[in-house]
Amino acid sequence: MKAEIIAVGTELLLGDILNTNAQYLSRKLADLGFTVHFQSVVGDNPQRLQQLAQQAKHRSDIVIYSGGLGPTADDLTKETVAAAYGDPMQFDAAQFEKIEQYFKACNKPMSENNRKQAMVPANGKTLENRNGTAPGALFEQDGKIAILLPGPPKELVPMFEQEVQPILQQMQNSVLVSRVLRVYGIGESVLEGMVSHLLERENPTAALYAKTSEVVIRITAKAENKQRADQMCDETAQEFYQILGSSVYAEGEQPMEQTVVNLLAEQGKTVATAESCTGGLLSQRITSVAGSSKVFECGVCSYANRIKQSILGVPEDVLNLYGAVSSETAYYMAKGCQAISQADFAVGITGIAGPDGGSEEKPVGLVYVSVTDGTTVWIHRMVVAHRSREIVRFSATQKVLDMVRRLLLHLPLADCECRPIADE
Ligand code: ATP
Ligand code: MG
Repeated sequence: MKAEIIAVGTELLLGDILNTNAQYLSRKLADLGFTVHFQSVVGDNPQRLQQLAQQAKHRSDIVIYSGGLGPTADDLTKETVAAAYGDPMQFDAAQFEKIEQYFKACNKPMSENNRKQAMVPANGKTLENRNGTAPGALFEQDGKIAILLPGPPKELVPMFEQEVQPILQQMQNSVLVSRVLRVYGIGESVLEGMVSHLLERENPTAALYAKTSEVVIRITAKAENKQRADQMCDETAQEFYQILGSSVYAEGEQPMEQTVVNLLAEQGKTVATAESCTGGLLSQRITSVAGSSKVFECGVCSYANRIKQSILGVPEDVLNLYGAVSSETAYYMAKGCQAISQADFAVGITGIAGPDGGSEEKPVGLVYVSVTDGTTVWIHRMVVAHRSREIVRFSATQKVLDMVRRLLLHLPLADCECRPIADE
């Protein structure tokens, strides 16, 4: 079924607010199996809104509107769309009472304008708003449907979930289930080549989305019931696992830091960090995970060479001879961090995040990341070329988290230099 989204509001056209409602609604509609063909934004102007409403009604089975349901003069979505679907509006005393009660409960004065919000479709349906005063509305004509939702996301989201989703599910007569696999260490194009035969299928569908330092695979199955759709997703996921193995680091909404914290907690192990160019980003990511206090010992933000020496024990001649951004410094940072923290794993990060500070020999984006378990140090040299400071820093933390994950799972660290800690 063809769907489209229309966001109403001059603020959106002026760039004062971001159209997050469209993003939310598009995702939801896709999850429910609707094909979204258009997303548009129109200002608070009755002629242009009317024009767009007619066009949308003609070309789409279902049109979802956001915004312009409030009590003020510029809130004109309801009247305009009602006219497009030939549905007169009528005053609803019960709705008016609800609005009055809402104002009483919030201890706010009610204005005469609020009467406008008690105008409901005569033939369509009123959608209850449990988080504000403006009710939503549903209009229908010749099998074409318009759904009107309030602009504020804290009203739109619950109204969609409670009132609209069940109606749309019924229209689809089928259930959609999605499963997300998160892949680290294989670039999007290489990955695409490895799994292309799985991306061509129609049901379940599978698609790749490149994100910063990872690729997400979304599998979506459509079936007559949830159990069958779940089973179909499982079967396809297994095919991906057979090809990608441990490069799939997690499923669903679980980021790398959460994966690593969970593994550390399961195994009763701890980690500590020594960061230079990432300035604490890694410790921030780890400690953003609830329960990280059980696994995180400390983070040293050793930006200055003096601190690398005095706190982490990086030898002065190493810094002089090889420089702060070197495999040798990364080795000593991990080793020193492990010695002061006594953590099971200690991590070092040193690099050039840019945009300045690069040279031919050591370009912007060059980062050495290291991990030790107390007896061996694994060091990886990476160059995150032509990317922003933010991405260089994030990529370094992602890589080193994956190295810790691999050590915890006894997986090989193929792209790392491996140095035993010598007794010095
Ligand atoms: P109200 O009763 O608050 O007037 P409304 O349904 O009339 O609600 P608008 O007046 O269009 O909605 O927008 C109210 C507020 O909702 C905006 O100031 C903005 O903060 C938020 N909002 C509106 N449209 C969107 C959108 N498309 N995406 C994200 N936020 C939005
Ligand atoms: Mg408004």
